[in-house]
Amino acid sequence: MALEEVYKGENVDEVVELLDKYGKDAKIIAGGTDIVIDLRNNRIDPKVLIDISSIEELKGIKDKGEYIEIGAGVSFTQVVENPLFERNLYGLNKACHMVGSPQIRNKGTLGGNIANGSPAADSIPPLICLNSTLILKSVRGRREISIEDYYKDENEKIRPDELLVSIGFKKPKENQVLSFAKLGLRKALAISRLSIAILVELDEEGKIINIEVASGSLGKYPMRELELEQFLLGKKLEDSTVDEGVLVLQRAMEKRLAGRSTFPYKRVAVDRMFREALEEAMKYLDEVRL
Ligand SMILES: Cc1cc2nc3c(=O)[nH]c(=O)nc-3n(C[C@H](O)[C@H](O)[C@H](O)COP(=O)(O)OP(=O)(O)OC[C@H]3O[C@@H](n4cnc5c(N)ncnc54)[C@H](O)[C@@H]3O)c2cc1C
Repeated sequence: MALEEVYKGENVDEVVELLDKYGKDAKIIAGGTDIVIDLRNNRIDPKVLIDISSIEELKGIKDKGEYIEIGAGVSFTQVVENPLFERNLYGLNKACHMVGSPQIRNKGTLGGNIANGSPAADSIPPLICLNSTLILKSVRGRREISIEDYYKDENEKIRPDELLVSIGFKKPKENQVLSFAKLGLRKALAISRLSIAILVELDEEGKIINIEVASGSLGKYPMRELELEQFLLGKKLEDSTVDEGVLVLQRAMEKRLAGRSTFPYKRVAVDRMFREALEEAMKYLDEVRL
């Protein structure tokens, strides 16, 4: 089936009408940094492409008081340059900043990072730690789903007639911080070999009272590391606790990745990545406590 039509979408309503009309024969193109490669390698063969890159209503980053809403058409560079993502949301800023190259960051969108569904997508572990909600639209209406369930449940994936419109999450409290660490094959332009995001909160005594840990490329999809969270909750972050935490994480990984050629390498690398993300989080919390 050859490409017959390319539509330049003017607004969300028009795009969902087109998706309803063409269904599986249509594909959305946002920044094109994934889909153009898929087209070139004949991995996909749509009849219709719907370009959403100039739809303003998809490009906003809205500070809604307790919540932040990010349009699906927002680029990695927009996140990196937005002051909302400096302090205790630095982990999302860092994840976006470590994507590909400046050109990729200028074009690539968070919506494309999510919809493409790669286990190595860098924005996902931080968005999982923030318990983000995805808003999807079709002529049938609006669908809200947690990003964690979106990845966990095949039935919840984006449907051919759906457009991802926005990603929303509650702002972390002042004494909570989101951090991120990624290991790529080389400093720049590197797809993640693995990544870790941590959202953590300590009490006055330095005990963990709230923790969310999510990983990328350590399983079929980006996911929460629940066993590690349960182990760390209520503990002080002493060296022995961190050492034991690494073992808990490695055991959880082994259940998922044993037998994979990459497992021995990732088992060693995850130690350093977890410690890097934790150290960055502690550095921020020490600063805010001063
Ligand atoms: C050289 C290079 C380096 C890269 N490095 C990294 C990296 O370090 N980390 C990383 O995470 N990624 C990396 N990527 C992958 C890519 O840049 C990201 O996944 C990016 O977020 C894709 O966004 P896009 O807007 O370009 O998506 P597109 O290519 O336009 O679309 C990707 C997919 O999502 C669908 N889609 C896009 N937007 C929507 C929407 N709003 N609603 C419904 N479906 C939608 C499209 O139909 C398509 O199937 C790299 C890519 C390249 C080429």
